Amino acid sequence: MDSSLRHDWNLAEVREIHDQPFNDLIFRAQQLHRRYHRGNAVQLCSLLSIKTGACSEDCGYCSQSAHYASGTAREALMDVDAVVASARAAQEAGASRFCMGAAWRGVKDGEEFDNVCEMIRGITELGMETCVTLGMLDRGQAERLKQAGLKAYNHNIDTSRDYYPEVVSTHSFDERIETLRHIREAGITICSGGIIGMWESVGDRCKMLIELANLPKHPESVPVNALVPIKGTPMADLPAVRPFELARVIACARIMMPASMVRLSAGRRSLSDEAQALCFLAGANSIFYGERLLTTGNAEVDRDRELMAELGIEPLVPVAGHPTPAERDSDSKGVCASEAATAGSNGEGLGNKPGQSSPANAGTNGLTAAEA
Ligand code: SF4
Repeated sequence: MDSSLRHDWNLAEVREIHDQPFNDLIFRAQQLHRRYHRGNAVQLCSLLSIKTGACSEDCGYCSQSAHYASGTAREALMDVDAVVASARAAQEAGASRFCMGAAWRGVKDGEEFDNVCEMIRGITELGMETCVTLGMLDRGQAERLKQAGLKAYNHNIDTSRDYYPEVVSTHSFDERIETLRHIREAGITICSGGIIGMWESVGDRCKMLIELANLPKHPESVPVNALVPIKGTPMADLPAVRPFELARVIACARIMMPASMVRLSAGRRSLSDEAQALCFLAGANSIFYGERLLTTGNAEVDRDRELMAELGIEPLVPVAGHPTPAERDSDSKGVCASEAATAGSNGEGLGNKPGQSSPANAGTNGLTAAEA
């Protein structure tokens, strides 16, 4: 483990980092970002909801809670074969990691959990990595997921410990932390972050980051979400998060957990191209493309690709059929795309398989694109 990674952050210093002049904050975040990561590469994640709606929990921001009339239709757990088929289609489209979400309070032993393990096994056999978010789980369940081949588990802490009861009443902050411990002890990598724009204070945002950064090991992935107000939920009428607020939280996450992937997650669709570029500059290096990544002619995905091309950002794991800026340049010089990707400035070949480090990223943070 990198001995420069800290786990003893306190509120006063984090508040000072957060509140410093904006340009100084972004400059510091970008310095650390480049020490640990490639400067112009973003991880592209796809997500499939395998069980939707009718969740017993009352998370105030969530469209899937049964407590609110958000209009989200209930859908039962998907069939194993259908999920594996979706993963296969994703793989054929160039994806190397497949994320699945189920709207549950937590994992219950039984047929549905058996089926989720079967999905993980089936997708792992394809040679893909898996990530799931299933709610709370115990140590034995975490071990079963690990045995099935699970790589990563998403479990957000959402906000500060102090503010958490204002957001959720049906489970506690400590239960979230306990699940994170079970995940870590089972040897599964952790994806955990939070949401801003829920009427929390700046201090709450700093405390949320402190909770994550002061874990015994930093989460390998830290999603930073901006609230997407959902009609029917208690947070339906909250004002939109300003991009500068989002960029400040992303920059703090980058500074406090420099080796982690910081994901610009929910709320990204409502940001302008310039605001998204600012978030990348602040240290975000992961985004969700969503399951519709795999369909052609998706306007949102096409917009993402155009933005990445404009910014000269490459996918950490290349997307099949969509040349990176380096490939496009090399093509125009008459060099074949695969040669260009291998010999190009980033040194990371298209042929890298999940789990393989290229010379460029080995020895930086110890994470390959696929692991992160
Ligand atoms: S536990 Fe998850 S799915 Fe259920 S209401 Fe909370 S955020 Fe939504």
